[in-house]
Amino acid sequence: MIPPFAAKGYELTQFLTARNYIAGAWCDPLTSKDSLEVMNPRHGKAMSTVLMGGRDDVDAAVRSAQAAFADWSKWPIRDRAHVFYRLRSAMEKHLEELSWLLSHENGKLYAEAKAEVEKGIECVEYGCSLPNLAAGEKLEVSRGVTCELSYAPLGVVAGVVPFNFPNMVPFWMLPQALVAGNTFVLKPSEQVPLSMMRVAQLFAECGLPSGVLNIVQGGQPVVEALCDHAGIKALGFVGSTRVAKAVYARASASSKRALCLGGAKNHLIVVPDADVALTADNVVASFMGCAGQRCMAASVLVAVGDCDHIIEAIRVRAAKLVTGTDMGPVTQEAAVRRIVGYIDAAEKAGAKVLVDGRGAKGDAGGYWVGPTILDNVTPDMPAGCEEIFGPVLSIVRVPNLERAIEIENANPYGNASSIYTTSGDVAKRVMESVDAGMCGVNVGVPVPREPFGFGGWNDSGFGAGNMTGWDGYRFWTRQRKVTTKWALQKDITWMS
Ligand code: NAD
Repeated sequence: MIPPFAAKGYELTQFLTARNYIAGAWCDPLTSKDSLEVMNPRHGKAMSTVLMGGRDDVDAAVRSAQAAFADWSKWPIRDRAHVFYRLRSAMEKHLEELSWLLSHENGKLYAEAKAEVEKGIECVEYGCSLPNLAAGEKLEVSRGVTCELSYAPLGVVAGVVPFNFPNMVPFWMLPQALVAGNTFVLKPSEQVPLSMMRVAQLFAECGLPSGVLNIVQGGQPVVEALCDHAGIKALGFVGSTRVAKAVYARASASSKRALCLGGAKNHLIVVPDADVALTADNVVASFMGCAGQRCMAASVLVAVGDCDHIIEAIRVRAAKLVTGTDMGPVTQEAAVRRIVGYIDAAEKAGAKVLVDGRGAKGDAGGYWVGPTILDNVTPDMPAGCEEIFGPVLSIVRVPNLERAIEIENANPYGNASSIYTTSGDVAKRVMESVDAGMCGVNVGVPVPREPFGFGGWNDSGFGAGNMTGWDGYRFWTRQRKVTTKWALQKDITWMS
């Protein structure tokens, strides 16, 4: 039993030790003795400990999921979806509590955490809709012969998720995978293992049978064991590009279906005719929201021609932000050093620091970097081409739209790209040319909401299709085709 999280504000609040959840029971790792402190980033102090699992825990979780599959996969899809209907109500009821737990383990502001849980609920709603979408197809393909297509579960499947969305990203996978009839082994990020403990408890209270959802806590050894395990049929991964690529290769090598979303370097192209207030508000919200720890965050602003009036409006807004109130901390202490390193290097290479977030402090310790804007960045500077994953906006100045598109398309990532303009023609040209999977017109965080699928291109995604929406259902299922002929037709051949 995982009790509700008690916090109603940002004060340091302890939570239970994070353990594995296998066959409906919370248990210690079988052999691994490793553990990590779960830090509250606002305070820089431990709020829990996570016991790190290993290969044998993955095996135990897979056996539990295999045992549960026999029954769960036979439930009518509508009954499986009803668990998600109940979960939706439970998440609404516990919205505040789930949001505080997430805020405490990840560091994001309460409002940001609440928005994340609400987005998780939206994904749950998509799962609820699947009985209406997944009816399959049937056609009389020749006289007296019908072909019917239906979606069958794969069996035991697994998901590995990052630290920046501890609640929402698991819900990119669980509704489609479970409503389809699979059983699941989830590995949360070891930095934020607590949110899904409460969710697992709510799932159990909503009637999810034991063993349908299993959780193995841990890091790289657990992920490698999931990739290698012959009993796991598909693996979904969300995290950095380096790891996504390695996980995709390793899971594929053991003949698994794999879809691995990676990191990003999102370019926002701004032209002089853009609406100043809308652009400034949007760009600032995009690069500093969740302390810049979003794969959809604005990272490079490509300013076409004379955009000084817009850059000034962005600078003024960003300079007013107060860390702790308008912006949360970054999740790890090491991230502060990494982000500050990028700012230092860019400044040394000739970039101008318009807003400087170095040295930001909270009122209770913790890991802080304030909003930072770097002007005159070039695409070859690390701040111009690498994922910083912090509240840093790099401004690259170019003379024309062609050069802006060239820079966007030369970067190896392909998650998101936006254009800010009041010209439909400019918007159309950019949207038709940029090499990114999720694009925006006057939108700073162009996340495709349900039912549209979330997924980037190039080095931002390995494997076919999107993680959410209908593609997600396709990913976690296989198609059974049944061809039926009842009456023998003597006058025609079988395939006629
Ligand atoms: P990460 O790649 O370090 O970790 C992701 C997961 O992989 C974690 O569960 C972690 O335990 C595990 N892991 C870490 N190192 C591993 C290794 N060497 N081998 C196997 N598994 C390993 O990512 P993160 O720091 O948790 O998250 C931030 C990254 O995730 C950023 O790059 C961000 O852009 C990306 N992200 C992408 C999306 C997307 O949809 N494309 C969404 C959210 C986050």
